[in-house]
Amino acid sequence: MLKKVLIANRGEIALRILRACKELGIRTVAVYSKADRDLLHVRLADEALCIGPASSKESYLNTPSLIAAAEATQAQAIHPGYGFLSENADFADAVEQSGFIFIGPRAETIRMMGNKVAAIEAMKAAGVPTVPGSDGAVCAENAIAIANRIGLPIIIKAAAGGGGRGMRVVTDINALLDSLSVTQAEAKAAFGDDTVYMEKFLQHPRHVEIQILGDGEGNAIHLGDRDCSLQRRHQKVVEEAPAPHIPEQIRQQVAASCVEACKQMRYRGAGTFEFLYEDGGFYFIEMNTRVQVEHPVTEMVTGVDIIKEQLRVASGLGLSYRQEDIIIRGHAIECRINAEDPKTFLPCPGKINYYHAPGGPGIRMDSHIYTGYSVPPYYDSLIGKLIAYGDNRQVALQRMRNALDEIVVEGIKSNIPLHRDTILTDTAFNEGGVDIHYLEKKLGLV
Ligand code: ADP
Repeated sequence: MLKKVLIANRGEIALRILRACKELGIRTVAVYSKADRDLLHVRLADEALCIGPASSKESYLNTPSLIAAAEATQAQAIHPGYGFLSENADFADAVEQSGFIFIGPRAETIRMMGNKVAAIEAMKAAGVPTVPGSDGAVCAENAIAIANRIGLPIIIKAAAGGGGRGMRVVTDINALLDSLSVTQAEAKAAFGDDTVYMEKFLQHPRHVEIQILGDGEGNAIHLGDRDCSLQRRHQKVVEEAPAPHIPEQIRQQVAASCVEACKQMRYRGAGTFEFLYEDGGFYFIEMNTRVQVEHPVTEMVTGVDIIKEQLRVASGLGLSYRQEDIIIRGHAIECRINAEDPKTFLPCPGKINYYHAPGGPGIRMDSHIYTGYSVPPYYDSLIGKLIAYGDNRQVALQRMRNALDEIVVEGIKSNIPLHRDTILTDTAFNEGGVDIHYLEKKLGLV
């Protein structure tokens, strides 16, 4: 097992990684920006180093600073968490070239998944179902013929895109060429690459994803699926496992195809295949080559500690489970708690005057906040994740309602009222299986 790991992240995920390291007897190095001295994991880590000013660009995204910190502390490996540099192939390369272990897939895997045209190609070859589309890049010369073949509406997407940016829906063939050139220009400006491709635009899909683990040697398993359809501006708000109302055979088939793809690419570590699910069909859209924010719901229904498995694989110890060891039991739901105004959704940093965490059977709170902690204005507004587990979905839902009644966060605004009063009371959500537009429609945003 690794002896010392540097955690190249902040907030709840840094604390989550620290806890897993401590369980495994791994020493920890926390790195933090000047705005983050008071983070909980910084206090709990064996060693802590300031890596730069508040701006992420100069701290959490600063490769030379991170590598220097690993050198200074003689850490063996770097865990990137999610966001920041976690899906940056150049960072993974730099880490390994400096003699450290990158806790994640090989740089070449990250690079391939970062190019969606290449990723979709690889998926198709492995038998993963994809969205009917252009099968490669689209340009002004072939766009109209391809759009006619797919059938309108279509969506034009940047091959190098991410974070819900660089996409445009086309419903009128006369608008196609204009939309194409605008999307190409945006892609060039945002990602430095104007390659775009085309897909059938699905009108009422759900977001369903499959969690996988690979040992980097050709062994891989899946940990079932999650439904993350409750979103606002492509940001997930509530996630659950397993995804409700999916025929068992379809569920098993798609998961098996993901495992096959991972075996073929000798995938290393944790990863997620994201799909749109509509009318009984799964359509691959992208793969995330890192741990996801919503990984706890999968941990609750499988009993697998995903971060510990990442650390094992990085240590060269392989996975602790075979596929037949994985049994999905019960149901888990996660509410993302953000420091934001529940009405305007604007970030709401500031000092937490009082924090009381909810408890009871099946309740898990992954959060770095504490009474007296100040949420800095510089980063993502996620301040915690409230997870409720139960023998079935009804029990998980009721435990979540209870927990949302119990939790107290005073001093700053948060989206707790949105979860408590709007989402957990909603009839369609309670029945399960709403599409990705449901929340925005309910909130009157579209
Ligand atoms: P990103 O990497 O930017 O998140 P994705 O390919 O994952 O890009 O797409 C982001 C979101 O855009 C999806 O979650 C979905 O809401 C929407 N989307 C993408 N492709 C399609 C499609 N073919 N049909 C309908 N919606 C889509």
